Amino acid sequence: MNIIELRNINKIYGSGNNQVHVLKDINLDIESGDFVAIIGQSGSGKSTLMNILGCLDTASSGDYKIAGEDLAGMSPDDLATLRSKYLGFIFQRYNLLATLNAEENVELPAIYSGLKSQERKERADQILSNLELGNRIDHFPSELSGGQQQRVSIARALMNGGEIILADEPTGALDSKSGLNVMAILQQLNDQGHTIILVTHDQNIANYANRIIEIKDGAIISDIRKAPNKNKKEEFPPKDNSRNTFAYLKDQFFEAFRMSIQAIKTHKLRSGLTMLGIIIGIASVVSVVALGKGSQEKILEDINSLGTNTIVVMPGKGFGDRNSSKYKTLTVNDAELLARQSYVDSTTPAVRTSGTLTRENISVTGQLNGVGDQYFDVTGLKPEAGRFFNKEDVKSGSAVVVIDQNTKEKLFPNTTDILGKTIIFNRQPLKIIGISQKQNASFGTTDTLTMWSPYTAVMNRITGDRNISSITVKVKDNVSMTAAEKNVIRFLTAKHGKEDFFTVNTDSIRQTIESTTNTMRLLISCIALISLVVGGIGVMNIMLVSVTERTREIGIRMAVGARRNSVLQQFLIEAVLICLIGGFIGVLFVFGIGFLFSMFVQAFTMSYSATSVILAISCSTLIGVIFGYIPARNASLLNPVDALCD
Ligand code: ADP
Ligand code: MG
Repeated sequence: MNIIELRNINKIYGSGNNQVHVLKDINLDIESGDFVAIIGQSGSGKSTLMNILGCLDTASSGDYKIAGEDLAGMSPDDLATLRSKYLGFIFQRYNLLATLNAEENVELPAIYSGLKSQERKERADQILSNLELGNRIDHFPSELSGGQQQRVSIARALMNGGEIILADEPTGALDSKSGLNVMAILQQLNDQGHTIILVTHDQNIANYANRIIEIKDGAIISDIRKAPNKNKKEEFPPKDNSRNTFAYLKDQFFEAFRMSIQAIKTHKLRSGLTMLGIIIGIASVVSVVALGKGSQEKILEDINSLGTNTIVVMPGKGFGDRNSSKYKTLTVNDAELLARQSYVDSTTPAVRTSGTLTRENISVTGQLNGVGDQYFDVTGLKPEAGRFFNKEDVKSGSAVVVIDQNTKEKLFPNTTDILGKTIIFNRQPLKIIGISQKQNASFGTTDTLTMWSPYTAVMNRITGDRNISSITVKVKDNVSMTAAEKNVIRFLTAKHGKEDFFTVNTDSIRQTIESTTNTMRLLISCIALISLVVGGIGVMNIMLVSVTERTREIGIRMAVGARRNSVLQQFLIEAVLICLIGGFIGVLFVFGIGFLFSMFVQAFTMSYSATSVILAISCSTLIGVIFGYIPARNASLLNPVDALCD
């Protein structure tokens, strides 16, 4: 039975005036089990014919049947399946993959046909030992002689059965001894039943064949049978439909994954540099978000320490009014009247004064705040020792004081039990009844000595003044802050006859700060995102170069049966892996930065969110897919013959 049938095959390269008619109406039948040599001068069209026979290229017109299957209308993937089922190639220049060792090169066709890993290895080793390469299975092509490499490529041709072996000038690059060896092997394979089709320009090589076909200028000019075909078969291997099962696809994915890792390992420097772009991109996105969030949290915490639901009324025209200390417009009476308003929960006047603080032989400057008893509730300040003053203390104006940690350290460096002791502020004795916990560094500096006394005590005993520095108005829970603020302003303006004060609403400060920091964060994130995109373009660039550089590899993979999807998958996985690894390193990098940051900056920490990390990782995966797709697609669309001929 004929394993190959060609009818009126024409091949025309180019178009218009540049047309070259290379094959002219070729009609050819080849019996299964035969040994055929195609001979002709250089440029006569032998390789072109061979590529068509090998389904690496398609004819411009004519019919081709292989083992009874008509190739007309077959897709590139169908042809790949056909190649892996029937055909084994032996090229003049071996075409082994330099990054794979002998065993892996031989395994390649079986990977694409879906043979299990264990069986594959065993079979590859068996074939290699049959070809006397048993002791070379883990050698790379560069570590093998030309003859050995050609034997590896013969082993590869046999891996999937090699029903038909196509050899294009198989001895062309070899010394005569290795050449004889290769011919002996081909002879042997033919004796075992393989159909051998050999292309050569050398009559001596052609003489090994049973049948010699000579072509000249793309046409057959002679066809001579020298010996009978002893291995004629009437049956061909059964069709396999194993290629669409889930197990096959899973296997293919795993293999593509393995090959991608291998490729990344082989091109370490290049992969590393590509990753660098992603690492920097991801690291900047995640750390910018973490920094922004950390500082925002810190600022909001500071604002919360001013109290929620509060409006602060201060004399003057607003923050930054240099004369504000000269305004003496707010009085305790204002606070008391405001407290009676229906929308007000309570008010607390505050007087601020600085002065000299003495204790035995120590004399320092400190700030004394005269406040109401609710002050501590509103601000959330907690006592570390002792107590804070109460309503009674405020009412009676008792000379008691709560001091902060700074004051304690300055005045009582070596004493622990200081409650009940007396300090002198501007010549007035004040009894210490409590010590506050260390406060966060708010807007002010941390080394100020701060003390709190009832405002009545401060006004009566120290300043001797009816005017106060601010009124903190706590608004009832169910009242809108803006409405309350408007009312406070209206009330005080009416009382004073003019607006000689200003109000600060903590809610509106919070909102302003939240929205500004959000805007800033968005802005910086955008910049960071751009660097991520630049990183992605870097990946695409490298992958494009990689595809061009690895055209031959792609051609070889396709020749041994890789389908377009397998190639696409492999390059895509490679791109995604590079981005993913880069993403992970980037995130690790960020945690490193955060650690360093926390060592040098105490004011606030970077606040990582799981969302930003997950987002970053998915972002890098997406970049891998998007920027890896075009190069991967380019690779998969390559024509095997074009990829091989470079
Ligand atoms: P051989 O293998 O017998 O030396 P080829 O089959 O390689 O010959 O080439 C036969 C002819 O086809 C040559 O004249 C060559 O220039 C031409 N040819 C081969 N490939 C191409 C191509 N891709 N585009 C245009 N012409 C080609
Ligand atoms: Mg040729």
